[in-house]
Amino acid sequence: MRILVLGGTSEASKLARLLSEARGISATLSFAGRTKAIIVPPIPYRIGGFGGVDGLTSYLTAGRVNLLVDATHPFAEQISRHAAIAAERAKIPLVVLSRPPWVRTEDDNWIDAASMGDAALAPGRAPQRVFLTVGRLPIEAFAKAPQHFYLIRTIEPPEYPLPLPNYQIILERGPFAVKAEETLLRDKAIDVLVTKNSGGEAAFAKIFAARQLRIPVIMVARPGAAAAALHDPLDAIEVILRHQAALRGV
Ligand code: NAP
Repeated sequence: MRILVLGGTSEASKLARLLSEARGISATLSFAGRTKAIIVPPIPYRIGGFGGVDGLTSYLTAGRVNLLVDATHPFAEQISRHAAIAAERAKIPLVVLSRPPWVRTEDDNWIDAASMGDAALAPGRAPQRVFLTVGRLPIEAFAKAPQHFYLIRTIEPPEYPLPLPNYQIILERGPFAVKAEETLLRDKAIDVLVTKNSGGEAAFAKIFAARQLRIPVIMVARPGAAAAALHDPLDAIEVILRHQAALRGV
């Protein structure tokens, strides 16, 4: 059975490990190539876009792929849309693996934002010290609120020059520890944290730290309607093995 896993997430990497141990399965993990230092998986991998829906469909049919797994990040909208269309065109099953969103507790002070544009306006008019943890690409949306100081944390350096007058960059890759996040929030005198509702454990420490320090969190909602997704790589492998049995006619 040939499987293509669209990755770039820790869930995809976990699934790759599980697939490397499964019998009769030849799986390839696909990275977009956004980060230079990929964590090399125990299965074959490829890097780079496919060239839109047509390119992905051709890849699936030419490679006689039997099943497609979309294990991309919940905010990676375009590739997920392409995956759904390409799987349908190639007439193969699509398994969607996506970590569940974080859920607010009564100790949290979250301000919901429907988009990055809304998040940029949420801290208000008065200058604030904002901790921006939304990745490189959405930074531009915050140009409309230049009165704030931005502490920006990304894995790879953003595109310079940034459209912001007052900022500091920290280049760091998670997972992060709660104590270290608390120290950072305190040392940088952060008033408000901005994050996507990515879910997962690796990035949760900042939410927990903000809760402890009673710092408000501007939480950007996931795009689109929640797809009927599996949340756990172990559930995904179970579904994949069922498809494998069906292919064999067992
Ligand atoms: P996107 O906007 O949904 O996709 C843009 C284009 O990048 C796609 O059309 C596709 O190019 C290519 N692409 C995306 N994921 C790919 C993959 N796994 N393998 C091959 N090509 C891929 O994606 P994005 O938000 O920029 O995210 C890019 C990657 O980073 C994804 O793999 C995602 O899982 C990971 N990631 C994203 C975020 C986030 O917040 N968005 C956070 C952490 C990790 P073609 O049209 O040419 O095929």
